[in-house]
Amino acid sequence: MDLIIRRAKLMGKDGTVDIGVSEGKITTIKKEIKERGNEEFDAGGRLVLPTFTDMHIHLDSVLTLGTPRYNESGTLLEGIAIWGEYKKKLNIDEMKARAMRALELIASNGTTRVRTHADVTEPTLSTLKGLLELKKECADIIDLEVTAFPQDGILTDPGNQELLERALELGADNVGIIPHIEYTREDGVRSVELAFKLAKKYGKKVDGHVDETDDEQSRFLEVVAAQTIREGYQGKVTAGHTTAMHSYNNAYAFKLFGLLKKADITIVANPLINIHLQGRFDTYPKRRGLTRIKELLQHGINVALGHDCIMDPWYPLGNGDMLHALFMGVHVGQLTGYRELLDSLNLITYNPARALGISERYGVEEGKDADLVVMDAFSELEAIRTMAPRLLVVKSGRVIIKTEPAKIKIVRDGKEKPFNRYL
Ligand SMILES: [Zn+2]
Repeated sequence: MDLIIRRAKLMGKDGTVDIGVSEGKITTIKKEIKERGNEEFDAGGRLVLPTFTDMHIHLDSVLTLGTPRYNESGTLLEGIAIWGEYKKKLNIDEMKARAMRALELIASNGTTRVRTHADVTEPTLSTLKGLLELKKECADIIDLEVTAFPQDGILTDPGNQELLERALELGADNVGIIPHIEYTREDGVRSVELAFKLAKKYGKKVDGHVDETDDEQSRFLEVVAAQTIREGYQGKVTAGHTTAMHSYNNAYAFKLFGLLKKADITIVANPLINIHLQGRFDTYPKRRGLTRIKELLQHGINVALGHDCIMDPWYPLGNGDMLHALFMGVHVGQLTGYRELLDSLNLITYNPARALGISERYGVEEGKDADLVVMDAFSELEAIRTMAPRLLVVKSGRVIIKTEPAKIKIVRDGKEKPFNRYL
């Protein structure tokens, strides 16, 4: 065997097992594997998870914080304005270097699948071209999907529709939409119809920014869901943010849940960014502005998470760690019942795998892809609570990250002792 991870605790299971890996696949899981592996790692009873997925990030703008200026209002709209200034001078090599640095950071945190948005509203399409090149160059550490994202709208400029189509011809994986940025409700509806038409023509999925606003009148998610059903696109559509749902009246929200379930749409929440961006027009009380993760899950709708931004015009922080996004999500969405907390790991593991259509080869089971992360934690709760270090990250059977955790000593009464930080 190429690799054996010994004494691993698996999600939802008691006791430990050895995991044997050969040629990129998990070949054996049993109490004790007798043979020796070419490479071995002793998890010592620690939790081993399938690697995480980031369903929504803007790699073209990562690590640009402060250039050409900082977002002082903290609003989405000032962020879009700053990005508009930056992208006029964007250099493809410089962008790729930033994005690769971010992808390494993301991989170091146990994520090996990323879906990124490439802004396709600038005429050279350089961000898209750069990210499509990067998709090949980062394949040893990350499986990357690139969504053609019309940041400024599809119908707000006569050239944008053509640019979106050109992006699909160049090889973008998914068609993006941003209907709430279009000038009118009618334009928003038409932009959704156009995007589905293009998706069908080029055989792509739809991956939208939908209703990322605190405006309770913003109801494009229902338009996307209805179009999904009409076009027979169930299971191929993702709607990101959907923060207006936070402000919908309950009667409408509950009607919408039924429609979303029927359309089999995945909702992607971005807790770090939306707790930071939403409610900016409120005084007090201030709305949280996060989409209704808890209720969506209760209604059987697939929900996954995105990190969205790392040090860019919209968000000054970010560490590329999906456990940070999850930690924020369980707080803001109040997913803090014991069962809810344990299940919340699905938001960055099995649920996004379903949205990406890779469930058949995803998970810690014999025959599945050997994409594994060893947490420095002995339970699911501890992994979330401490956002535990990722001791080992394995992609396609190959070790890509090794972490040596900090050793802490406590000094009391003049004596130094190793400090046990596991509770
Ligand atoms: Zn976004």
